[in-house]
Amino acid sequence: MKEIYLDNNATTKVDEAVFEEMRPYFCDLYGNPSSMHYFGGQVQRKVDEARNRVAALLGALPEEIIFTACGTESDNAAIRSALEVFPERRHIITTRVEHPAVLTLCRNLSKRGYRVTELGVDGEGRLDLNELRSAIDEDTVVVSVMWANNETGVIFPVEEISRIVKEKGKGALFHTDAVQAVGKIPINMATSSIDMLSISGHKLHAPKGTGVLYLRKGVPFRPFMVGGHQEHSRRAGTENTAGIIALGKACELAGHWMEDENTRVKALRDRLEAALLELIPRARINGGEAERLPNTLSIAFEFVEGEAILMLMSEKGICASSGSACTSGSLEPSHVLRAMGVPFTCAHGSIRFSLSRYTTDEEIDTIIRELPPIIRRLREMSPFGREFLNA
Ligand code: PLP
Repeated sequence: MKEIYLDNNATTKVDEAVFEEMRPYFCDLYGNPSSMHYFGGQVQRKVDEARNRVAALLGALPEEIIFTACGTESDNAAIRSALEVFPERRHIITTRVEHPAVLTLCRNLSKRGYRVTELGVDGEGRLDLNELRSAIDEDTVVVSVMWANNETGVIFPVEEISRIVKEKGKGALFHTDAVQAVGKIPINMATSSIDMLSISGHKLHAPKGTGVLYLRKGVPFRPFMVGGHQEHSRRAGTENTAGIIALGKACELAGHWMEDENTRVKALRDRLEAALLELIPRARINGGEAERLPNTLSIAFEFVEGEAILMLMSEKGICASSGSACTSGSLEPSHVLRAMGVPFTCAHGSIRFSLSRYTTDEEIDTIIRELPPIIRRLREMSPFGREFLNA
């Protein structure tokens, strides 16, 4: 059975061209880029090229790119740095729908004496910018708001948020977790005021264990990984050279695929969405009224369990998710859907499909064919579902 992989917000397939780019840097060109000899020097040049490629995708300067080990590290490095830079300030602002990489850190910090404001969202997953405006005060040290939500794909107006932080924040820094946005929607740091931005390689067809923290030139920074002088003393530790080279190539390719993502992939997503809404009664799009990523569809089916849907789809080779990969495994509705006030009966039956450049028309056809009978079968098995079907 060939898998139909629609779980690309959890992780992506490494692009073959990315793999070929990194392959020589394991067994042949394994030098340390910090070494003085030619053997390390040639690796250093490839790392520089990777930095340029990442910078080009973001409209950034190469020196604004810090390679890390993952999105989680980038998020932690950004927020912790802000706290070190302004030790006298104790107020952090974030949202209730962040990835745990930000939310758990902020909640841990609140136990250590920081005041943390978690902004809420409306039923479509949108922020109220007036709530943000009134939350910022002279004690605010950092505002961290994600660019796009991993579960619903809802996009936050981070450029506007950044401007508000600059206007009202008296020097407070603005960080955005752009892990789900990079490679899917255009980003231009040259015309932006965002101070720090996180990227994860495995969400854009590079290997796991690669990431970037974008740090605007001139923004003060204190690393939490200290040791050697790698990454201009901003992230100590011998570089993951093969991973960095892969991430550079993946960013170059993401630039080429951006149009496909926003036309073909979006059209596939829209077709899937329209067909499921038509064929399955009591289905609802989570965040459907908000601006969303082109590849993401979070859809709730009333009177069924998301995990049961996943299992039956999995038998047909269809891979999706019932929420964020990090929260599946627990039967609690996801914190994102709860924050949106999605009714319990819908939140439980929510499925996330996340498409990629590899998704085909035939795969979408298969899901449109296979999913409606699965939902019907599950509803027949549940008391509420039966009641609804018999009504
Ligand atoms: N932020 C968001 C929005 C994510 O979706 C993820 C991964 O799911 C992360 C951060 C964490 O990235 P990584 O897996 O590279 O640590």
